[in-house]
Amino acid sequence: MINTKNLYKDICRVLKARHGVSLKDATPHMLAEAVAQASLLQLGDDWTKSRQKLEKQRFAAYLSAEFLTGRAILNNLLSMGVMEELKELLAKKGVDINVLEEEKDPALGNGGLGRLAACFLDSAATLDKPLMGYGLKYRYGLFEQRINGFDQTEAPDEWFTQDDNWTVRREELSVTVPLEDGEVKAVPYDMPVVGYGTDTVGTLRLWQTESPDEFSFALFNDYRYDEAILNKNRAEDITRVLYPNDWNTEGKRLRLKQEYVLSSASIQDILRTYERTHTSYRSLPECAAVQLNDTHPVLAIPELIRLLTEKGVRFETACGYAQRIFAFTNHTVMPEALEAWDMKLVESVSSRIAAILRRLDRRSKRLYGLPLIRDGRVHMADTAVCMSYAVNGVAKIHSELVKTQLFPDWYARFPERFQNKTNGVTQRRWLALCNPELTKLLDDIAGGDFVKDLDLLDGVKPTAKAAKALGELKKTKKQQLSRWLKEEKGLDVPPEFAFDIQIKRLHEYKRQLLNALSLYDIYMDIKEGKLKDLPPVAFLFGGKAAPGYARAKAVIRYINALADRVAADKDVNRRMRICFVPNYNCSAAEKLIPAADFSEQISPAGTEASGTGNMKLMMNGAVTIGTWDGANIEIAQAAGEENEFIFGARIEELDSIRETYDPKQIYESDERVKRAVDSLTDAGFPDEDGALKELKTSLLEGASWHRPDQYFLLKDFASYREARLKAYRLYAQDKKAFDMMCLKNVLAAGFFSSDRTIRQYCQEIWKI
Ligand SMILES: *Cc1c(COP(=O)(O)O)cnc(C)c1O
Repeated sequence: MINTKNLYKDICRVLKARHGVSLKDATPHMLAEAVAQASLLQLGDDWTKSRQKLEKQRFAAYLSAEFLTGRAILNNLLSMGVMEELKELLAKKGVDINVLEEEKDPALGNGGLGRLAACFLDSAATLDKPLMGYGLKYRYGLFEQRINGFDQTEAPDEWFTQDDNWTVRREELSVTVPLEDGEVKAVPYDMPVVGYGTDTVGTLRLWQTESPDEFSFALFNDYRYDEAILNKNRAEDITRVLYPNDWNTEGKRLRLKQEYVLSSASIQDILRTYERTHTSYRSLPECAAVQLNDTHPVLAIPELIRLLTEKGVRFETACGYAQRIFAFTNHTVMPEALEAWDMKLVESVSSRIAAILRRLDRRSKRLYGLPLIRDGRVHMADTAVCMSYAVNGVAKIHSELVKTQLFPDWYARFPERFQNKTNGVTQRRWLALCNPELTKLLDDIAGGDFVKDLDLLDGVKPTAKAAKALGELKKTKKQQLSRWLKEEKGLDVPPEFAFDIQIKRLHEYKRQLLNALSLYDIYMDIKEGKLKDLPPVAFLFGGKAAPGYARAKAVIRYINALADRVAADKDVNRRMRICFVPNYNCSAAEKLIPAADFSEQISPAGTEASGTGNMKLMMNGAVTIGTWDGANIEIAQAAGEENEFIFGARIEELDSIRETYDPKQIYESDERVKRAVDSLTDAGFPDEDGALKELKTSLLEGASWHRPDQYFLLKDFASYREARLKAYRLYAQDKKAFDMMCLKNVLAAGFFSSDRTIRQYCQEIWKI
């Protein structure tokens, strides 16, 4: 356990040593750096011991192209158990611990998949499970989103310049990755993952690429200055940017290089650990499990085979080892998101890996009758399923689709391989850190340390008194959010309104456009003097659009234009407000989620693999307005269907109409639908480039690559309206009943702790 007074003394020492200042004269940045340095000093022994322990037993490695860790300082202080005492010690010197909120988010991930990886590391450390995270240290994280007029613009996100205080460079553990156009050096930077209420400190190992020969002295001497740093740039390019795309691939060769570097460096590191205590590779499968988070690290499979065969292991033996070491998680059913690399491209990155993939393809056809390479492209998901001992989806419904829709042939061959691991979120960050008020209430009614074990909420009686207290504290969280929106983003959201929130990456399948079109409908009704029984509601959106994704950007434009229209309309603006919160990221999520009354989870059935935003919102006492999709289903089952507002077509219905669906019919026959869809072109919203018009076309006519309204917005429009009006009316007419629904959601959140998910991975896949 960390001693707070020692930590405090170290903070003061670091400030003196590095900046020559005392605590009260330190700037927030100096303080942030000193807290990190002092914490690393205090955690040092536990961290070393945890790593030594991991290396001596069976362990699991989690390979992921993204880790969306969020801010580190306050979270780590919470997990170290020093938050309250340190706050008091600092306050005595006139320093408010909240100045540490100026820390920028390390932007090492895009969205849900990366955040899941971060939650898993937190849970594994808390449960004392030996899990190593392996990722890449991108210099430029995801872009910073700004709203210019009504449109998204992107600015570079240079998080590393001031706030990279928690990674430790481990030069001595560098490895060399052979690429077709020369070797690169991969240097690990270790980030501590502090377990809550335990001495275990896990490790997130992030690789940064460098040139093995930084700078050619010979060339420089020869006055060829530019050429002298060419190698340096070529190598450093590989980890320069995180692709702001979570569904398709751009900059293909560089992206593939990134994936290969992550795979190769991590596998080399795992082998090196193993080789320290073993002379043969026979027991490698007993010593390590490697979880592939989606297909981005799948080249780890041929890379392991390459390394083992080069060390003298027979090819077939190496394949057998791989099939006992790797496990694969699928995260999406969207066909455009399933990676398939052109073999020529693979060849140009590593001909050795290309050769092994060809051999694996032949082997797969021979043994299982199923190819991995089709039309000259290697299918990464098929490769992963073929070469893994476990394959899992991330919610019950999704895991069924993985078997029946994505990999039916593999499922027929290896039914025992397929599993479900419903996602979860860590209650350290998503409850204790972001909502101390609710944490305090639960402390009073639950007893025991539910921050360590969220199952302690099971069976707690939902009393009217606690429901009321939840309603009251949510007012506080709304005031805090409203103030933050004003101060940080310059936005006006009245805190006394009900808050309806949709926060997630902008994507057609997530149907932010359905929400916005439905808001246009509600707006027009209110303007016409209808819907007098609705409470005032603020509708908040947050989410980034991939820079090249025109439709997602058009939806942002529509939301902002509508928000502007509503705010300026004196007939309506006391009843309704719309607000697009720019630059949605972890720390914005931590502000938004505790203030939500309604959680919008409205993807068409069968498209959102799980969702984790839905779980964070539930845990903080929002009720779900949602479809029968992803983990929404399990949330409704856990909290009681009567405590959510479920709407929309179910997956069976959508499957049955998919081929014959005619949205124009709905458009022609439902005046509300027509009015809302027509607002894209006829409401006078600025649309110089015709992007809003194109949205309308995509709904009514489709495009060369898809049917009209491929995500069934029009189909679900009416039932969505009905569900949300019912929800807002309950809020207005029976707040007691509404507060009780919220409380029942909180008390049912135990299952959605990532601690539960990690326990299942440990028992059912990793065997640790
Ligand atoms: C949880 C989270 C997500 C995932 O949200 P979904 O609603 O599940 O898509 C994305 N981004 C951030 C910053 C998150 O915290």
